[in-house]
Amino acid sequence: MTVFENLAAVRSTLPWGVQLVAVSKTYPAEAVRQAYDAGQRAFGENRPQELAAKAAALPADIRWHQIGHLQTNKVRLIMPYVARIESLDSARLAEALEKEASKADRQVEVLFEIQVAFESEKTGWPWEELRAWIEAGQWRDFTHLIYKGVMGIATHTDDKAQVVADFDTLRRYFEELQPLFGSGFDTLSMGMSGDYELAVAHGATSVRVGSAIFGAREYKL
Ligand SMILES: *Cc1c(COP(=O)(O)O)cnc(C)c1O
Repeated sequence: MTVFENLAAVRSTLPWGVQLVAVSKTYPAEAVRQAYDAGQRAFGENRPQELAAKAAALPADIRWHQIGHLQTNKVRLIMPYVARIESLDSARLAEALEKEASKADRQVEVLFEIQVAFESEKTGWPWEELRAWIEAGQWRDFTHLIYKGVMGIATHTDDKAQVVADFDTLRRYFEELQPLFGSGFDTLSMGMSGDYELAVAHGATSVRVGSAIFGAREYKL
């Protein structure tokens, strides 16, 4: 199967209105180009150096999403290119993003990555900490950040009930925050190649799909 065919197959399973972010981490720029030629415009990367290198080499109308944990000292590297940070997971990162976006005189979209998978990969902002940060209210002064929604990674397990529970938890968090941030806060990013259809059934409005489009990765990050 080619990238073109895989992309068409994935798209055909997504209901209207659900965004597809093609996760191109580890795949060459040439693979991104094939998806681009098939009309795909949103791509996800988790390493800042790789995002910057691909962005510099590929068409400017691509919307690059940073989907992996972002260190504050790497923010500057991707600021010229990144459309959306899906992995806003700390107050420090929010401050760094605001500072660099302000310097670059631009706005950047952000999703709160919220922790749900407690046994395995503990990525994301712990919910209670995020709530406290939001209540403190400083986010209102961060005028270079556009708060777009919530992202999460379900527990890595074959136990479907656990994955569903994680998706439902993320949806509850999203629904609780939505009224605070207003109508532009419309994105619930959850689901990857193995579980994106389940994620959509549980409310995802954006899915992050890599290997189902580009083939098995040669190395795991
Ligand atoms: C790699 C990655 C994906 C895509 O994973 P696939 O299984 O290749 O679809 C989605 N989200 C995040 C945060 C990732 O790091």
